Amino acid sequence: MNTNSIKDLLSGKHLLQEVTVSGWVKTFRSNRFIALNDGSTIQNIQCVVDFEKLDESLLKQVSTGAAIKVKGTLVESQGKGQSVEIQVASLEIHGGADPETYPIQPKKHTLEFLREKAHLRVRTNTFSAVMRMRSALSFAVHQYFQQNGFYHVHTPIITGSDAEGAGEIFKVSTLDSKKPPLKEDGSVDYSEDFFGKETNLTVSGQLEAETYAMGLGKVYTFGPTFRAENSNTSRHLAEFWMIEPEMAFYDLDANMDLAEDFIKSVLSYVLENCKDDLEFLEKRLLDEEKTKPAAERSEMPLIEKLKFITDNNFKRVSYTEAIEILRNCKPNKKKKFKYIINEWGADLQSEHERFLVEKHFKCPVILFDYPAKIKAFYMRLNEDGKTVRAMDILFPGIGEIVGGSQREERLDVLLEKMKALDIDEKELWWYTDLRKYGSAVHSGFGLGFERLVLFATGMGNIRDVIPFPRTPQNAEF
Ligand code: ATP
Ligand code: MG
Ligand code: MG
Ligand code: MG
Repeated sequence: MNTNSIKDLLSGKHLLQEVTVSGWVKTFRSNRFIALNDGSTIQNIQCVVDFEKLDESLLKQVSTGAAIKVKGTLVESQGKGQSVEIQVASLEIHGGADPETYPIQPKKHTLEFLREKAHLRVRTNTFSAVMRMRSALSFAVHQYFQQNGFYHVHTPIITGSDAEGAGEIFKVSTLDSKKPPLKEDGSVDYSEDFFGKETNLTVSGQLEAETYAMGLGKVYTFGPTFRAENSNTSRHLAEFWMIEPEMAFYDLDANMDLAEDFIKSVLSYVLENCKDDLEFLEKRLLDEEKTKPAAERSEMPLIEKLKFITDNNFKRVSYTEAIEILRNCKPNKKKKFKYIINEWGADLQSEHERFLVEKHFKCPVILFDYPAKIKAFYMRLNEDGKTVRAMDILFPGIGEIVGGSQREERLDVLLEKMKALDIDEKELWWYTDLRKYGSAVHSGFGLGFERLVLFATGMGNIRDVIPFPRTPQNAEF
């Protein structure tokens, strides 16, 4: 079908030419002005109809939400707010939308309401802008890695190992869940399951990506990951997309350099390529801010905030230094934190992370060298024997956006760690094999894609930056 995109038409191409556009009606005013949107841009194109020339029954079907096709001439617009418009010569209805029942009316709907209409919410300006930004960020992620010598590996979705040992896994099984075959001792007999063993949906592609880094050098995986997070926060989903680069011969410093450069690069990409959507989202946020008490308002408009990130260095702070800051800070002393930080070794909660970023350093922070006890088994033990070469990147308004580390490359240390944590060596024989054959210093990190989209769009809830959010008790769509 030979149609024009509204984005192209608004850029001034095709002036005074015959054009054809298909899209969804946003509004239809005075039986004359149709605001049409086809998803290619946040802006609508105005289509001017001469109702005397068009069939009345046809015009009756033009209502908010209807899918239509117009043909006509692109002319300069005399009206305010748009540079060009289409003088409609003919109009076709692809599909009408009953105005009585169409849920997306030309008014402001709450985000909560729109979550219940996840199949239609992309028709709103906010969600179309967010989803175009999501797509642009995804492209920027691949572009960054492809231009920097990384290979894309597709790690498996169904795995036989629970990488983190965190227990938040979704099991995959073909056994009858009500009446599974049992062994003599009463436990479930997984030898009769499809794979002949217990399997689950992946919580991270890291371990498999590591194996590929130890042959291709620099790799990344970017796919869905699944965690049965039993909490309802605005930062957690049960199904989210994770970007996980893994690099041979990179130590923790090189890993931190890469992560910082990567984030700055993808945010620069959207600053350059998503101007209209960013301006729309920024304005939306400013309107929302006006309804909040002054103390809760964000100090920086969205675009300025993104530029601040791309133009300034992230602050690198060791866990030990951070704990000192937290122990002595006012909110901790005045018991304003829900969890009071008393001693070295405590895991940071998001209130602490956000304090460090938003109040103390006032910039993104990379925390490194965490206590071994609160981090995963595969992280490289430091010479002090109690900290590991881990790093988390903390962002304003978000908290943790990246978790990464230098990986333990020494077989004996790794095995000892696994033993202490009761991780079955037999389950991970392939992982420990890497330390037997050509082992080397290597590192990587995981960045939750939705947290990146959340930050770049200024949205407040992770449910609003993924098309169909999966959270406890919610898989309607
Ligand atoms: P958090 O402390 O926020 O629960 P985590 O430490 O459990 O995160 P990691 O295992 O380090 O998460 O995963 C790497 C990254 O994946 C995190 O830094 C975050 O950006 C993202 N992430 C983790 N869990 C989720 C989730 N449930 N939903 C969305 N993103 C997530
Ligand atoms: Mg978690
Ligand atoms: Mg964490
Ligand atoms: Mg983490």
